[in-house]
Formats: sequence, structure tokens, C-alpha cells
Amino acid sequence: MEAGKCLKMLREMRDVTFATVDAQSRADARIIDVMIVEDDKLYFVASRGKNFYRQLERTGEVAVCGMNSNYVTVRLRGKIKKMDPSWVDKVFEQNPNMHDMYPGKSRYVLDAFCVYAGEGELFDLSGTPLFRESFAFGGEEITPKGFVITDGCTECGICAQICPQQVIEAGSPYSIMQAHCLHCGYCQENCPSDAIERMG
Ligand code: SF4
Ligand code: SF4
Repeated sequence: MEAGKCLKMLREMRDVTFATVDAQSRADARIIDVMIVEDDKLYFVASRGKNFYRQLERTGEVAVCGMNSNYVTVRLRGKIKKMDPSWVDKVFEQNPNMHDMYPGKSRYVLDAFCVYAGEGELFDLSGTPLFRESFAFGGEEITPKGFVITDGCTECGICAQICPQQVIEAGSPYSIMQAHCLHCGYCQENCPSDAIERMG
């Protein structure tokens, strides 16, 4: 899937969850505005006083996740870099409501960050069957996820019968329709031949 399209969806959602880890490896998350998306990069701001800012600087990474009103989720894990101060002005030009929260020169307590590389996934629960597709940007590669049926399959048909989404097709071996799989693992837990492997 085209990464730029997914990043633009996050910009349209605007208020999305940004997750980090702190120095004690504890997970942390908050809602942040996606300020700019251009050239397959995503930009946001953080003020230097926040724990969020320290966590960004310490790890150089962030995880982002949002869902629109049609139950389409976009999530990604990306590498970040701090931009020069002109990017704060650019953010305020494209997001005029920021003047209310940071009037005058107080805006310069903010720094702009760019998510310049990463990988992620679109997960669409708006229809049946569900649909998922991975994307990558900034030179990153897609890490395979989910489950795959190997040549150890004896074609007993159990997995196809119990799959909650009915997305396993008969064959030699049986196969999973990856774009519609929940990644729940129920098939793997119940295969009598241990023929289903986790990817990634
Ligand atoms: S349960 Fe295992 S052996 Fe049976 S069809 Fe599925 S993958 Fe093949
Ligand atoms: S992981 Fe879950 S949804 Fe996917 S094929 Fe297996 S049982 Fe079906």
C-alpha cells in the first residue's frame, strides 16, 4: 500500500495516539495532533518541558495509531528527527488554531519533529471481510506478520472450519488469505500437525 495515502489519513484524523517508552521501559501514550504530512513524512510538535519530549529524544522512535469514523485504523512505528525552528512557524501557518494555545513567541517552547522512516499497517474494519495491508516509507522494509501454513499441512481441514473470519482456503497445503486475517492465532493453536507458523 502507498505509505503517503496512509500518512494523509492520519493527518485527516488529526488527533491520534502517539506512544513512547520512558527511561524505565514503561509504556506511555497521549493524543497528539498530526500537523503536516508531505513527501511521505509526518510532522508533529512537542514542547521541551514535556516527558513526551524527553522520551522522543532518548529513543528516537515513536508509535502512532489512529482510527477514523469509518473504523479504518492506521498505525505505524517510525524513526524521528528534530527539525529546525522554521518548522514551528510552518506548523503554525498550516494549523492556525495553534495560535490560541501558544500565543506570540511562546510557540518557540515547541520543537517540530519529523517521522521520516518507518513501517505500518492500514486495518479496515468497515466491511466484511476485514482488510489489512502493510506499508513502509523512508527506506524501511515491511516486516511480514501473521501466520503461514507450511508443507507440514495434512489437509485435515480443522483450521478452515474454526477460523473466525473463514479466511483459510483448502489446497495443498491449505492457505491463509493474508489480507483478511485477524492475526488471532486460533488456527495455529488448533492445528494437530503444528503446520502453522508465525511470521515476523
Ligand atoms: S489444521 Fe493444520 S494440518 Fe489441518 S488443514 Fe489446517 S494447517 Fe493443514
Ligand atoms: S490467525 Fe485467526 S483469522 Fe487468521 S487465519 Fe488463523 S484463525 Fe483465521
